[in-house]
Amino acid sequence: MRPDNRTSPDESHKELQAMAYTDSLTGLGNRHRLREKVKHLAAERADDPAPFTVGLVNLDGFKPINDLFGTEAGDEILCQVAHRLKACVPDGATVTRHDGDEFAVVLPLICERVSAERMGQMIKDVLSAPYDLGDRNVRLSACLGFAVYPFAGAEFEDLQKSAETALYRSKRRGRGHITVYSSEIAQEMMRATQMEQALRHAIINDAVEVYFQPIVRLFDNRPVGFEALARWNDPDLGFVSPSVFVPLAEERGFIDLLSEALLRKAAEATLTWPRELFLSFNLSSAQLMDLRTTSNILAILASTGFDPHRLELEITETAVMTSAETAERIIQDLRDAGIRISLDDFGTGQSSLGRLRDFAFDKLKIDRAFVSSISKDRASEHIVKAIITMCEGLELQVVAEGIETEAEAKMLRALGCGMGQGYYFGKPVDAAATLRYLKQHFHEFTVADRMNA
Ligand code: C2E
Ligand code: CA
Ligand code: CA
Repeated sequence: MRPDNRTSPDESHKELQAMAYTDSLTGLGNRHRLREKVKHLAAERADDPAPFTVGLVNLDGFKPINDLFGTEAGDEILCQVAHRLKACVPDGATVTRHDGDEFAVVLPLICERVSAERMGQMIKDVLSAPYDLGDRNVRLSACLGFAVYPFAGAEFEDLQKSAETALYRSKRRGRGHITVYSSEIAQEMMRATQMEQALRHAIINDAVEVYFQPIVRLFDNRPVGFEALARWNDPDLGFVSPSVFVPLAEERGFIDLLSEALLRKAAEATLTWPRELFLSFNLSSAQLMDLRTTSNILAILASTGFDPHRLELEITETAVMTSAETAERIIQDLRDAGIRISLDDFGTGQSSLGRLRDFAFDKLKIDRAFVSSISKDRASEHIVKAIITMCEGLELQVVAEGIETEAEAKMLRALGCGMGQGYYFGKPVDAAATLRYLKQHFHEFTVADRMNA
């Protein structure tokens, strides 16, 4: 006979097994439970493969909260998430937690994209309500990726992989996105991965080029500087626009590699121009969130012998918005080193006049959208006029972007705009063509150059 307070070997085996399938923090099932559940459902439906859905849920911005408020607060949020998920999924569904802030839901009655999306939206809404941490509330959003059995995979591993691909796509798009796996999405992701590999290869082989577009003083059309613009012509993919490959490098986390290679090239080319010309270089939003940016840039300038006072960095408002404190610090450090900061694409996106007051900018670039409609529509003319007047008051220099015609240049001149840029003055061209352009437009340079020759 065994004493009452002892468990039988059978019972302890069961207990151990339960533990192996349970996430100790939240009490939900773990990865093993998910696998077991999916395999069980698939086996049940083997003869008549009625669809069901697996969803992965990943919190956005969980890590900074964990870092900032401590793991205890992080654990508390994970428990609240677990609770909310359990409460909102339909009867018969299973919720599990995996590593860190990733959860999964198995939804036996959801069998196609639209219902999966609807369920995703509901989960997203439930998770975005504030989390109570005792002395404070925090808000989080979540990304979701769904895979419908058996289309997205008839085996657990394939289904899981498809759900991960869908989740990865959501994450790449930013916060709060929902993706249901399909073959089109798989193809899209594959193309992006191929492009990523080709781009990494091009960076290593120094095959990404820099072109230069003149920025002129409007009253006499004299070039005062150039904007550096990245160009990539891949042997297989052909010409790829920087508005495609720059965001890709940002998403895949190697924008610093790309940007460093480009800045080095641009700085080297600028050294052959007359000294008074500045170089304007685009900084990506990811770089404004990384405190190493300043020292990286200064190191490149030092190694190429480039005077920081000749450099301007173009940044966008979205970049400043995403992580204001870090951005402010980086901007201040760069300005302390003598680099000027220009606010790019002004008037598009989430323009806020408050930011012009809070951040120290030197220059503002009026977006092409206003410039191209200035001669056709009175409203644009008034907006441009107001921006120019405001910049005068704030002692900001102004560049109008995307000037394509004499008429546009004339109007902007009349409105008192200091500088202009656009096809009318010159399209972006490579370093050699830029030198030829300078010889045509820059008398002193021609003389100095002849003297050097
Ligand atoms: P952006 O910084 O606004 O650059 C201006 C874009 O307008 C360039 O496009 C330029 O070629 C184009 N443009 C200039 N004048 C005219 C004009 O008169 N008419 C028209 N229709 N377009 C004009 P591009 O070179 O395709 O670059 C697109 C965007 O890619 C840039 O927009 C910038 O956001 C990004 N980008 C380009 N090079 C770099 C880079 O080296 N680093 C980073 N982070 N971003 C870059
Ligand atoms: Ca720019
Ligand atoms: Ca621009």
